[in-house]
Amino acid sequence: IEQEFVERHPSSRAQYERALKDFPSGVTHDVRYLKPFPIYVERAAGCKKWDLDGNELIDYTMGHGALLLGHAHPQIVEAVAAQVRRGTHYGAGHELELEWAERIRELKPSCERVKFTASGTEATLMAMRLARAYTGREKILKFAGHFHGWHDYAIPGEKLPFTQEESPGIPRAVFETVVVAPVNDLDFVDRRLAQGDVAAVILEPSGASWASIPLPEGFLQRLREITQRHQTLLIFDEVITGFRWSPGGVQRLAGVTPDLTTMAKIVAGGLPGGALGGRADIMALLEFREDADWNSRRRVSHPGTFNANPLSAAAGCACLQLIADPGVQQHADAMAARLRRGFNQVLVQQGVPGFVWGESSVFHIALGHTCANQEGRDIRVPEGVAPEVLKAGMSPRLALALQQAMINEGVDLFHGGGLLSVAHTPEDIDRTIDAF
Ligand code: PMP
Repeated sequence: IEQEFVERHPSSRAQYERALKDFPSGVTHDVRYLKPFPIYVERAAGCKKWDLDGNELIDYTMGHGALLLGHAHPQIVEAVAAQVRRGTHYGAGHELELEWAERIRELKPSCERVKFTASGTEATLMAMRLARAYTGREKILKFAGHFHGWHDYAIPGEKLPFTQEESPGIPRAVFETVVVAPVNDLDFVDRRLAQGDVAAVILEPSGASWASIPLPEGFLQRLREITQRHQTLLIFDEVITGFRWSPGGVQRLAGVTPDLTTMAKIVAGGLPGGALGGRADIMALLEFREDADWNSRRRVSHPGTFNANPLSAAAGCACLQLIADPGVQQHADAMAARLRRGFNQVLVQQGVPGFVWGESSVFHIALGHTCANQEGRDIRVPEGVAPEVLKAGMSPRLALALQQAMINEGVDLFHGGGLLSVAHTPEDIDRTIDAF
């Protein structure tokens, strides 16, 4: 497999040799690391991208989930092109930032006020700070295996199995303010919140890593009740799910209202950007008070050069307008279901231990493991499988071989799975199943 991979990608290999002098390990994001070298892409459109050697790939990275509308969607291209000619940064308010916030508030009524950030990482950092300021409590509770970006408070408990081990560069004091709950353990949460020192519970409301470890039925409702009872805030990290699970995210789908919501990716239409939205009385901590000048230390501060950047606002507005039509999510969901079912059928037919699962428009692949309800169908919750298996999916050796082999066959997976878009067609899915 690796030999074919090397032979098909001489130009990518040449660029990687150059990249090794530019970047540690030659990559600009941890998940883009691939042995013997990653693919270099020249252009992308719809659900396809083309590498420097002219190979066509059906894309399931989809901008790490940012491109629900596919690559280079004409309306987004047009909106960004029109804005870039009018300037890229005003250092002032502009009408598009208002429209952008209003579209978010309309899709997510829990977001009574909004603040824009430059990324999802910044949004979860600000959500945690606000929760601490609002409650006067220092601790944040998060769930083992859930991902919330790369700032210091997001790192503890990110990997499974969870250990209290430290992470290079992160002060021990930070670890002491983050409580990590075992996978899906609400009894632990209830007991821990009773101590009265937890400002907020944050989670991916899809379950860890975009539904790779699904939540049991009624989990979000029960978590809402527990957090309310202990006067602890509830933060939904909807960076992935915010506009993908439904136009109003998981919160509208499940009918559970968080106190704060973090967003990124689709919210900025494929450009850099993020947002935090939430209850007006909590967001009010960001307000300037009449009795204090701008330098006051009594409010929660929030600068950020690229907050509500006009280019991201233009792409975000165009995108949110389009994805407000639930037909977008329905199409992507249907394509993902077709893919999950097809992959499971392949595994059954070939007699390979493994299963494919997911919800909404995402999928995850496990190889070398079995689940009780595989049966060549589309499944959301694999039965009888340990959370560590669901999080990892397969051994690093198999994961590498699968990724290389799928690239050889014209398919770019993401993290042992993938995210779909409105641009994927039944033919693309069937080609992908053949490749698999
Ligand atoms: N939260 C979740 C649930 C995410 O999936 C991600 C990114 N994959 C982040 C936060 C961080 O967002 P960003 O990469 O924009 O900083």
